[in-house]
Amino acid sequence: MDPFVWGDLVVNLGLSEEQTAVRRLARDFVAREIAPHVVAWDRAEEVDRGIVNKLGEVGFLGLTVDEEYGGSGGDHLAYCLVTEELGRGDSSVRGIVSVSLGLVAKTIAAWGSEEQKRRWLPGLTAGEYVGCFGLTEPGTGSDAGSLTTRAVREGGDYVVNGTKMFITNGTWADVVLLFARSTDAPGHKGVSAFLVPTDTPGLTRRTVHGKLGLRGQATAELVLEDVRVPASAMLGEEGKGFSVAMSALAKGRMSVAAGCVGIAQAALDAAVRYAGEREQFGGPIARHQLVQELISDIAVDVDAARLLTWRVADLIDRGEPFAVESSKAKLFASEAAVRAASNALQVFGGYGYIDEYPAGKLLRDARVMTLYEGTSQIQKLLIGRSLTGISAF
Ligand code: FAD
Repeated sequence: MDPFVWGDLVVNLGLSEEQTAVRRLARDFVAREIAPHVVAWDRAEEVDRGIVNKLGEVGFLGLTVDEEYGGSGGDHLAYCLVTEELGRGDSSVRGIVSVSLGLVAKTIAAWGSEEQKRRWLPGLTAGEYVGCFGLTEPGTGSDAGSLTTRAVREGGDYVVNGTKMFITNGTWADVVLLFARSTDAPGHKGVSAFLVPTDTPGLTRRTVHGKLGLRGQATAELVLEDVRVPASAMLGEEGKGFSVAMSALAKGRMSVAAGCVGIAQAALDAAVRYAGEREQFGGPIARHQLVQELISDIAVDVDAARLLTWRVADLIDRGEPFAVESSKAKLFASEAAVRAASNALQVFGGYGYIDEYPAGKLLRDARVMTLYEGTSQIQKLLIGRSLTGISAF
């Protein structure tokens, strides 16, 4: 199908056969392997670890990664479609893929040496290994470039000390893509990236409990005390770690946005279904104009978020700059997912407030999307800087 071209925005309104097939595969996977367990996993505060192997077997942890390294290939739109379907099913599971593949495996594929790719990618893409992304610290969140974890060179090794906070997959992970200060260069210029096996002596982790949403996800605090890693564990050049992190997050934000589209779509599906079934004042609540307003507001948010997200995938696949568009998509889609889930909860009335019905979990899960991989305020500063040329950080 010929794409419509508006300025530099190319929107191909049809999916290829491969993309349609992968979306169908993801939809079936969610119905079979995720949907029956969503409420139980949320209540237990733990997704079944076996889901990682199943995600690997079906190829979802290898999307966009070369087959040579165990990947399943495909383009970024296919990756978005799968992420959206997983987000529609359970954001805790979606996050496993967005981090282990999106932030870790894809970053190794982009920046890694041949040895690093062969060491980590086949396991990560197969779901034998889980990866986590260790940037945030207790004292540095939005201002990530000021991180204080230190990596001191001793002979052929680095000795790492520091603490990482809120690390998705952290409790389960086999490898952490860790960011640490390895030189005295000022600001983020002293930061380097390392691939650290989580069973390295001196690395301990503690599960972060009591999260509002994403309760099934293994979020952890990582403490590193005299953790010794060989110099060959450095990903990219010394002092380039912040660039590694920012390039990972630029693509990661597209993945978060796709997950948010999934949340908003789930909110729409649930709200329409419930409004047709629930009767008040002698008929289905769907016949009330104010209920239709709630539903139509969700529908517009779904479409707008999806189009912004697909644009990012399209830009990446065409080799065009995409980072600012990724910030726009993440900003809009995360705020839209919160609105959509809240509107769906309103359609459900009091039943929306208990976890036998889906809207409450969608809202709890959506809320963090406006916080991680850069808060909404940080996305606005990135977009503002690109438009004005002035950094307001
Ligand atoms: P702060 O940076 O302290 O921000 C607090 C408030 O101040 C926010 O509203 C923020 O927008 C605002 N603010 C800060 N600076 C500015 C400014 N210049 N202008 C305007 N407003 C500003 N991190 C990882 O490294 N890896 C992970 O896998 C990971 N997973 C996470 C999972 C969960 C469930 C959560 C909650 C967090 C996760 N994070 C992860 C951390 C996340 O990225 C940070 O929480 C986020 O970047 C915000 O940092 P902070 O919490 O320290 O908030």
